[in-house]
Amino acid sequence: MLRSELTIDLGALRRNVRTLLRALDGAELWAVVKAEGYGHGALDAARAALEAGAGALCVATGAEALELRRAFPAARILCMGPVETTRELADARIELAAADAQVPEGLPVHLKLDTGMGRYGLSEVVTPTRDVVALMSHLATADSDRTFAREQIARFDELVRPYRGQLTCHIANSAAALRIPEARFDAARCGVAIYGLSPFMEDPSVDGLEPVMRWQSHVAQVKLLQPGRSTGYGRRFVADRPTWIGLVPVGYADGFRRDLTGTEVLVDGAARKVIGTVSMDSFAVELDREVPAGTPVTLLGDGLLAEAHARVAGTINYELVTAVSSDPRRTRREVLDS
Ligand SMILES: *Cc1c(COP(=O)(O)O)cnc(C)c1O
Repeated sequence: MLRSELTIDLGALRRNVRTLLRALDGAELWAVVKAEGYGHGALDAARAALEAGAGALCVATGAEALELRRAFPAARILCMGPVETTRELADARIELAAADAQVPEGLPVHLKLDTGMGRYGLSEVVTPTRDVVALMSHLATADSDRTFAREQIARFDELVRPYRGQLTCHIANSAAALRIPEARFDAARCGVAIYGLSPFMEDPSVDGLEPVMRWQSHVAQVKLLQPGRSTGYGRRFVADRPTWIGLVPVGYADGFRRDLTGTEVLVDGAARKVIGTVSMDSFAVELDREVPAGTPVTLLGDGLLAEAHARVAGTINYELVTAVSSDPRRTRREVLDS
């Protein structure tokens, strides 16, 4: 039997892209598919996003950009992170974000302005060379502090004003695309929301988004722990009464993090608590009765949100899903078009 199965619903991804396009009200949506499409599969996510109307693809590294180019000969592709050399990227017609006054030549450049993120970027617009096609910036707090985000947007607006109409201007991420209309400019770089995840760590349906990833496993073995008996490393769970537990063949090497003890998964549709220490290849759930081996266990999807797991683990949904493994030796990944 398969240890687990990952289902990527490209229909949901397309609907999320259309929802964002409606919110963007005329500005372009550029789909961010870095880090293997936030764990969903970069090529599948890119294809569905382009079909649903995305105007470009954004990634973090040169290698990610080149892989996309091989699959999508005609797409506009932006590499947002620093690169070692530009030659191969130029040949592949990749566009590049440049964060200092040394603007690379021979490929289209998006000048990155630091309007408050305090990472890479220029504080002023250097006189754009012929290769500069766009001005961009990145928001530090679009999901958490809209006042500071608005200050960044105002600063960006001021810096780019002389170039509006000649250069493409973009600053918005998913959070800003959904909830800060003045952040739209010409395009928004949307990642997390196209995967149906909430940039606000809320229920994604609040913003009309549908999760794209579903992760399923099963109960591999059931046992009755007598009082005083424990399960897992470190004896973190000790039964205080006869307790049925189910062993699920998924662990932190699959992306089911070690700090997910205490979160809930669905055993045959019912919420059950993860108990004891999550191991590399398996974890345990507390059951209220004996269930047959093979009983389905949902780890993500069917209403079980990445946001809920992330809260238990003290992290964000972004980190949780990018860690989910698609290694074919450990899981089966299936792409579905609902
Ligand atoms: C990752 C990234 C984004 C996408 O952010 P989301 O919150 O996932 O929408 C946008 N812009 C830049 C520069 C990024 O690095």
